[in-house]
Amino acid sequence: MKINILTLFPEMFVAVTQSSILGRAKESGLLDIELINIRDFSLDKHKKADDYPFGGGQGMVLMADPVFRALEAKDAQSKKCIYMSPRGKVLDYAKVMELAQEPELVILCGHYEGIDERIIEFWDMEEISIGDYVLTGGELPAMVLIDAVVRMIPDVLSGSNSAHEESVYSGLLEYPQYTKPREYRDMQVPEVLVSGNHELIHLWKFEQSLMLTKEKRPDLFERFVKETEHLSKNEKKILKKIIAQV
Ligand code: SAH
Repeated sequence: MKINILTLFPEMFVAVTQSSILGRAKESGLLDIELINIRDFSLDKHKKADDYPFGGGQGMVLMADPVFRALEAKDAQSKKCIYMSPRGKVLDYAKVMELAQEPELVILCGHYEGIDERIIEFWDMEEISIGDYVLTGGELPAMVLIDAVVRMIPDVLSGSNSAHEESVYSGLLEYPQYTKPREYRDMQVPEVLVSGNHELIHLWKFEQSLMLTKEKRPDLFERFVKETEHLSKNEKKILKKIIAQV
């Protein structure tokens, strides 16, 4: 997948895109990230990219012209264009899965007060929010979106199924995890996890996931219990028990 990021602060992306899973995806050629500095497309001699809002009001607004020029240089009309914006629909797993199918994304990060509305209209930008709060710029939201989407590209995560076992994607929250040592300050790792019995371990994880989801995310739990055809006989038994628990 290729991701083009239009921003006034390209340097903000360097650490995040070079480390961990994103860094590895880039190295293995599964991901290509291009950072485009909007200021480079300003025709102003001071490389100005923002100005006061018409009609008055606080702050500065990103101007249409440098953004249009940057988008034209990247042939954005034929690509999926996203504007990170608190006005957008809040990012969720369905949107993440949808975006992971795209061969190329163009992501625009606003800053200051926002951007000239004509950019959104002309380029048919989909507005995506990462939550009901306002950040200073679209850079952190873009990083959140990219991280979530890139994990869903086949072969990016090691272990073919690992994303589907994780919280939310499987329809359930993830079970508790433990690592060495087996005993820490008098607290033990659940016995079943060191039993070596894979079926019992699987059922324990499933039961824990059900209990956690029922308690913390009753909305996900309700959705999960509606579609149970894919469950084994033992899984169904456990589900029945958890549903009955008050
Ligand atoms: N005045 C605007 C907010 C501007 S915040 C309003 O009230 O809608 C500055 C920039 O940060 C925005 O242009 C957007 O790109 C980004 N941003 C802020 N909060 C965000 C959020 N919750 N999700 C996605 N992007 C956000």
